[in-house]
Amino acid sequence: MNLVSANNKRNFSAGDVLIRQGDKGECAYVIESGKVEIIIEHPDGAKSVVGTRGAGTIIGEMAIVDDSPRVATVRCIEDCQMLEISREDFSRRLHNADPVIQMIIQVIMTRYRDMLARTKILGESATYPPPEELEKNFALKTDAVEYIKIANEFKEAIENGQLELHYQPIINFATGKIAGFEALMRWDHPERGFISPGIFIPIAEETGLILSASGWALKEACSALKRIEGSTGYTEDLYMSVNFSSTDFASENFVESVYNTLSSTDVAAKKVCLEITERILMSQPENARETLDMCCKAGMSIAIDDFGTGYSSLSYLHAFPVQYLKIDRSFVMDMNKNESSSSLVKSIVALSQNMKLKTVAEGVETREEGLLLREMGCDFAQGFYYARPQPEKDIIMLLRNWDPKAIYDK
Ligand code: C2E
Ligand code: CA
Ligand code: CA
Repeated sequence: MNLVSANNKRNFSAGDVLIRQGDKGECAYVIESGKVEIIIEHPDGAKSVVGTRGAGTIIGEMAIVDDSPRVATVRCIEDCQMLEISREDFSRRLHNADPVIQMIIQVIMTRYRDMLARTKILGESATYPPPEELEKNFALKTDAVEYIKIANEFKEAIENGQLELHYQPIINFATGKIAGFEALMRWDHPERGFISPGIFIPIAEETGLILSASGWALKEACSALKRIEGSTGYTEDLYMSVNFSSTDFASENFVESVYNTLSSTDVAAKKVCLEITERILMSQPENARETLDMCCKAGMSIAIDDFGTGYSSLSYLHAFPVQYLKIDRSFVMDMNKNESSSSLVKSIVALSQNMKLKTVAEGVETREEGLLLREMGCDFAQGFYYARPQPEKDIIMLLRNWDPKAIYDK
């Protein structure tokens, strides 16, 4: 990652004042060459040099973190070459950081400023709100406390069996039959009730807790598939699709742990599909290819989830052993209202046919959408129109009563 953008190199001469105590700060500097001194002006007017900094260090960072006045003056004692980091650039990076990092940086800054004021290095500043109030505001603004709570409670949820899987049928357009299911994680929190995977999955990914959750999900989904087949006597081949994140993919023993689960649940590899996003393929191509090759050789299939929302480069598809493209719900939803969405769906279907890939349309909510997708040549469909994600016992009932002809007339 670039620390700073390319066009912000600046030269200063010995004696130049780079930063002035009390000014508003618009940028920080990385010293590429040369040397500066840091001077603090005390409330009684006395000045003291509190340090020097040379090449490879950063100065002026405090003011761009929290928008407060500069706490010191910085003067060049040699000719200097600097790289500028603008407040805007820094704010964008901080905004993208996880909320715990945002909160901790701001708390450190507040406490440091408070300490400077209390030790009278900068004079008491009555204008600052008390640190406790500032810190509470940061916590609220970044949702950091909520984030930490969810992360901790999710850990307990895995250990205490609060997680559940719901299964959403995937329909084969050619036969009208249920071809398989996507396993979707559900968290019924003892006090807060149902928490959406849209909230807890990203936190589980960032904290690494997704590893044990995904391991549990694969095992539970495979066992459920066995039970569903057993109790319905369904003779057709059903498959189970399970979502994996980039954290799962980056873990060292991913393939081994998938193999172990298949063998311990006695589910054939060809009945398991791994759903991953384009992001995984793009961010860790070498690792992803190796991992997918092994899974594919073992007989599992691979689906690219949310297809069309990530990287528009299609060339990568050749490089990976992928069998399914799942067309993102946002395009399916807009198909009837928006010409460009329906052209995009058509193109994805045509591309898949050329590349011998199967398409699954996600989020089909109406009969019209289903008919249009079928006409376009899409192979499979998934959506509330056919069936919502539901617990295993309801899936068993659904399979028993499924009428393939009814998918067009519900
Ligand atoms: P996803 O993988 O794209 O899953 C499909 C989502 O679309 C599910 O949301 C499903 O309930 C919803 N959906 C299906 N049909 C329709 C429809 O017709 N209309 C509408 N409006 N929605 C529909 P859900 O269960 O809330 O999951 C959200 C996301 O959370 C998933 O998106 C997936 O990215 C993630 N997720 C869920 N379970 C897991 C899991 O076990 N592991 C991982 N890594 N991620 C998961
Ligand atoms: Ca999915
Ligand atoms: Ca999806």
